[in-house]
Amino acid sequence: MSCIFCKIIKHEQQGDVVYENEKIIAFKDINPKAPVHILIVPKKHIASMQDIEEEDCEMLSEIFLVSKKIATDQNIDDGYKLVCNVGRKGGQTIDHAHFHLLGGW
Ligand code: AMP
Ligand code: ZN
Repeated sequence: MSCIFCKIIKHEQQGDVVYENEKIIAFKDINPKAPVHILIVPKKHIASMQDIEEEDCEMLSEIFLVSKKIATDQNIDDGYKLVCNVGRKGGQTIDHAHFHLLGGW
């Protein structure tokens, strides 16, 4: 498996991890587009949000709770963007589904 995010999940590749539980990991984006830019990533390898299945629904709703917690921890809970790029035409470059938490302007 050559997926870079799977390698970060398995701690085979260095990641600046800010949150982790059984199903979800969050780490700082290596090329930040905002003062705070964190990627919130399911530990299960799902190529994109076009590939989610019924069984992923619980984990996906938990991602929103994790986003809220991280936004609070990072002191950006007064305003931020939660973005998900889907497919090349949608700007997705890493084929492991993830949400961008952007804020701190
Ligand atoms: P997307 O374009 O939505 O697929 O977003 C991929 C994001 O992953 C980009 O913002 C990259 O800067 C970021 N990225 C790529 N490689 C790494 C890495 N090794 N660690 C952290 N972030 C990364
Ligand atoms: Zn992966």
